[in-house]
Amino acid sequence: MPELPEVETVVRDLRPQLSGRRVESLQVTRDQLVLGRLIRYPTARQFVQRLRGRTITSVTRRGKYIVMPLQDAAQGHAAARRHEAASPNGAGAERLIVHLGMTGHLRLWEPEEAPVKHTHVRLLLDSGLELRYDDQRQFGRLLLGTQPEIIAARAFPARLGPEPIHGDLTVDEFERLIHARRRPVKSALLDQSFLAGVGNIYADEACFRAGIRPSRWTHQLTLRERRSLYAAIQDVLENSIAARGSSIIDYVDGFGLRGSNQEKLLVYGRSGEPCLRCGTPLQGTRLAGRGTVYCRKCQR
Ligand SMILES: [Zn+2]
Repeated sequence: MPELPEVETVVRDLRPQLSGRRVESLQVTRDQLVLGRLIRYPTARQFVQRLRGRTITSVTRRGKYIVMPLQDAAQGHAAARRHEAASPNGAGAERLIVHLGMTGHLRLWEPEEAPVKHTHVRLLLDSGLELRYDDQRQFGRLLLGTQPEIIAARAFPARLGPEPIHGDLTVDEFERLIHARRRPVKSALLDQSFLAGVGNIYADEACFRAGIRPSRWTHQLTLRERRSLYAAIQDVLENSIAARGSSIIDYVDGFGLRGSNQEKLLVYGRSGEPCLRCGTPLQGTRLAGRGTVYCRKCQR
């Protein structure tokens, strides 16, 4: 599943190509069941109506979400106007939001290129290129609306934790937040309302780098361990962004190319294989409902 580094890579790839581009027309799959599953808000019909003719002003990321603010529609929508009046700080701006789920891809294509299998949504841009969304397993989602609107519709989390990179979270804040939790480290790291963007891959990698067992309780970590976990989270995420993400199953970037960080993972997916630090076979277990890998010797 794409996590923060993979989504960040796609966002950086798409930003120069999408910023300032107008959506001339849209084409969506005729399979209403699939469409209803993917477009979580508003209805598929409204989604198409509200997106047609709109200009994407930029491409940003929040946690594992790709967020594309839209220029105000000429006529405006009643709901958007209402929310804008309520929040003049910009929270009322409508945005197109994409979550890639397990197997979603958001990519730019030449219009003459044949769509790959499971292409569900196609946006023809005024640049002549097409932005296409394909998703084999359809765990992804597409949303369109103002922030208050999509939260009220329960299509977007009401509470997303801070971003672990880009200076959004200081070591002191992290140290205080994790100390206040009472749960296994792994489950805290996976909780998007605690920290936005970390998933199974980077939770395991960060715990290994910090020398902490994923099953340890957050409130029992020492100050030194909490600080080293903070540094480890930043390292694994930044290193993966530099390697253009981890292509475990079928993740590809905004150009359709695989990342290379999967070759650098120290524990994720390596259960039973020797620890790269001490040679002890890595231990596989389940924690917070997810497969978890750690070294019994290097992680305490
Ligand atoms: Zn080891």
